[in-house]
Amino acid sequence: MISSLKGKKVIITGAGSGIGKAIARKFAEAGALIAVCDISEETAQMTAKEIEIIGAKAIPYKIDAGNFTEVNEIVEKIVQDFGTIEILVNNAGITKDTLLIRMKEEDFDRVIQVNLKGTFNFTRACARYMLKERWGRIINIASVIGEMGNIGQANYAAAKAGIIGFTKSVAKELASRNITVNALAPGFIKTPMTENLPENVVQEYLKLIPLGREGTADDIANLCLFIASDEASYITGQVIRIDGGMLIA
Ligand code: NAP
Repeated sequence: MISSLKGKKVIITGAGSGIGKAIARKFAEAGALIAVCDISEETAQMTAKEIEIIGAKAIPYKIDAGNFTEVNEIVEKIVQDFGTIEILVNNAGITKDTLLIRMKEEDFDRVIQVNLKGTFNFTRACARYMLKERWGRIINIASVIGEMGNIGQANYAAAKAGIIGFTKSVAKELASRNITVNALAPGFIKTPMTENLPENVVQEYLKLIPLGREGTADDIANLCLFIASDEASYITGQVIRIDGGMLIA
């Protein structure tokens, strides 16, 4: 059995929906205190309310992960509310898919800004508290697309590949203070991000998955809980795929 996260102070970005919301619920069930961060105030509040119903503590914060100044301010506020930060899950992410020759500059920039720079913004703001604690877990939600590429996702693949390089570097920088930094690379997961894909695209993805099904947000949350636990204390700088075998290399 995985040890509890009782009393651990956790930030989860993009926790208003999908994978982030599932991680927030799972961590709250394990006893953690959750800062529910999302660009949507409404969905952040909904996640926090759902967590409170199960008797755990969660506070919603409206934040654009891509905004450096805002992130620093919000992390300071969270530290005032919680006392410190011990676990950070950089999950906030967006897609703006189109073929390279049709991709607008702003579609490239925004995807990099939210996915990659958002991960930098939160990691930088939280690291000093983890350094003080001499303990920490940073879990970055990348994607198998960052390793394999995908037609129509040059911006997203670049951002996720960037997160992988970022993860490996920061893991080396922070290891001596007992802070682990890992990336999870989900494959095709059923969430609001993927629910509007045309049926033929879904069928094409399913053909690539040896286990023959989409993953669930809970599949990712279970792995995330393990990586945050004491049992995973010797794992750092890794990219852990959770994709039903979509990318076996
Ligand atoms: P989702 O349901 O769309 O959840 C993403 C959440 O992030 C949403 O609540 C979204 O708010 C929020 N968000 C968007 N921009 C933000 C910003 N600038 N600052 C803070 N929050 C922001 O998608 P998901 O599938 O759960 O994705 C979660 C993570 O998993 C992403 O990093 C994604 O790239 C990654 N991932 C997903 C899959 C998949 O198949 N679903 C596969 C591999 C990796 P709004 O809804 O208001 O925009």
